[in-house]
Amino acid sequence: MNRLDGKVALITGGARGNGGATAELFVQAGATVVITDVLDDGGAETADRLGETCSFAHHDVTSEDAWLGLVEKTLGRHGQIDVLVNNAGIFQHGGVLDTAREDWDRMIAVNQTGVFLGMQAVAPTMRDAETGSIVNISSVAGMKSAAIAHAYAASKWAVRGMTKSAAAELAKYGVRVNSVHPGYIETPMLTQVSGPDDSRLVRQVPLGRLGTPADVGRLVLFLASDDSSYCSGHEYVVDGAMIS
Ligand code: NDP
Repeated sequence: MNRLDGKVALITGGARGNGGATAELFVQAGATVVITDVLDDGGAETADRLGETCSFAHHDVTSEDAWLGLVEKTLGRHGQIDVLVNNAGIFQHGGVLDTAREDWDRMIAVNQTGVFLGMQAVAPTMRDAETGSIVNISSVAGMKSAAIAHAYAASKWAVRGMTKSAAAELAKYGVRVNSVHPGYIETPMLTQVSGPDDSRLVRQVPLGRLGTPADVGRLVLFLASDDSSYCSGHEYVVDGAMIS
């Protein structure tokens, strides 16, 4: 039996990168997957490639109305939502000395408020079904300092705390909530972190290579599936031993 047979999953920021790879693994594991993104062309292409059990919806995670519409549409079409992966995110360089207020607000809106709105929109359905798994994508920047990216680190530390609080709140309804903390993963976002030459990043990783989106996706699959039925409220690092 496939690990996600009979389950319906929502994955934000699923057009590409970690979210796209997670969607592919979920489809292979038997799930019905709705990927959402603001990147319409990429989202539609990914859904087409993954086949008839995957669909794409345009969705900005910062919009409460968009979340409510997405949940209503998904329940209307599929009848249930078993898994939510809050994966959409943005990155921007800048320390506490040089982060503009508008850049701070944008980072918090997407990376933190987007996760809050997602959990708030989906949790009632999971509560009523007395089952569900929410996986929030944080970062190693939510485990340690990040001098180059103050707002990003703030948002990712917040996701870690929100995950623990939601896990404690929702446990009595059978709903699990965990956070995933990737290190350096080969996606378009990493190019923003490293620039064109990523050799400096590779040297920081004891396993000697960058992570792949599938490395992240396999961990998310474990947390989404019943294989992790006794795991909730915790952080799971996937970083090649970088912050060990
Ligand atoms: P990508 O940039 O490849 O993918 C992120 C996707 O999210 C993009 O398609 C992006 O669209 C979309 N997105 C941005 N803003 C919104 C929004 N408001 N609503 C909906 N979708 C949005 O990044 P990754 O795959 O690398 O990142 C996925 C997650 O993994 C993020 O949360 C990131 O912080 C986290 N992560 C990544 C690491 C890495 O090394 N790659 C390391 C640690 C954590 P658009 O391009 O148009 O903005």
